[in-house]
Amino acid sequence: MKEIIDLAIIGGGIAGVSASVYAKRAGLDFCLFEPKVIGGQLLLMETVDNYTGISLGTKASNLAAQLEKTLSDLQIEVVPEEISKFEISGKQVKLVFSEKLLIANAAIIATGASFRKLGLPGEQEFTGRGVSYCAICDGFFFKNKTVAVVGGGNSAVEEALYLSNICSKVYLIHRRKELRAIEYLQKELFSKSNVEVVFDTVIEGLKGTDYLVGVGIKNAITGKSGALSLNGLFIAVGVNPNTRVFKDILSLDESGFVVTDEEMKTNHNFVWSAGDCRKRPLRQLVTASSEGAIAAVSAYKYLKGGYISA
Ligand code: NAP
Repeated sequence: MKEIIDLAIIGGGIAGVSASVYAKRAGLDFCLFEPKVIGGQLLLMETVDNYTGISLGTKASNLAAQLEKTLSDLQIEVVPEEISKFEISGKQVKLVFSEKLLIANAAIIATGASFRKLGLPGEQEFTGRGVSYCAICDGFFFKNKTVAVVGGGNSAVEEALYLSNICSKVYLIHRRKELRAIEYLQKELFSKSNVEVVFDTVIEGLKGTDYLVGVGIKNAITGKSGALSLNGLFIAVGVNPNTRVFKDILSLDESGFVVTDEEMKTNHNFVWSAGDCRKRPLRQLVTASSEGAIAAVSAYKYLKGGYISA
């Protein structure tokens, strides 16, 4: 690998892949960094319905494989490394990975987001022992068992729907009276005979020794405590951005999402951000993909044509 490149694209989810496609077609000298598998959160989804131009029910894993094929067809180099240090030096970016240093004249941050934790005592110890953050990955282990999903957003409802086809009983535990999930998902959820939605309820504690056997719950209105016997608990309470490495360098909002302008530009005019790590009004594949494209075109303008401000 060269020591200096035009552009480093960090993250191989749909935003980073889309940025890479546009960077390649613009003839930029760039690397795409992805330490895991190409596809990001697509790898944790079952189907993709609301992405322009694809059939309803398209398997998310097929779309992820297609992203990988696109990279390979375009001969885009994927560096399988995690960036451990990100620094600004003059008008360049210094990237450290596996004790190697790479200098880039510009960077696109597309590192996505990871599952938020509930922060309960024992949550980490029970992870993989009854506690999970991904129904598609782990649902199979709970065939004909009783599980609960925590959360009230699209992810929680999708997880509950997925599990309802595997498990004998699924509780959806939400801290408020209304779900924030989109209406058609709610409609499907309420049509499932083996799903019980428990509103106004928070989880107080995890029960079990080696393995989770249940949870302590509390009604958020009455304060009354209770318990549920469970084989599994799926936590789907949102996501945290993967921006720790950038925290002293880029402007982040109070939750750690990268703040950008409409051209995806951060507080440094040679660094852009796209996808779930970015502060954005709509967290969808389609927006992540378009943000990646905008970021790459902005980088091209900066690198080849001078920066054009909005
Ligand atoms: P989300 O929309 O942020 O919802 C998180 C849910 O967890 C909320 O209901 C929230 O409760 C609850 N919650 C947060 N912290 C909690 C805590 N400590 N204890 C108990 N409950 C807690 O997150 P998401 O569902 O993961 O979705 C993330 C983004 O991806 C969203 O923009 C979503 O639309 C998108 N997404 C879309 C699809 C789709 O279109 N099919 C599928 C998945 C995700 P409150 O409601 O009380 O805040």
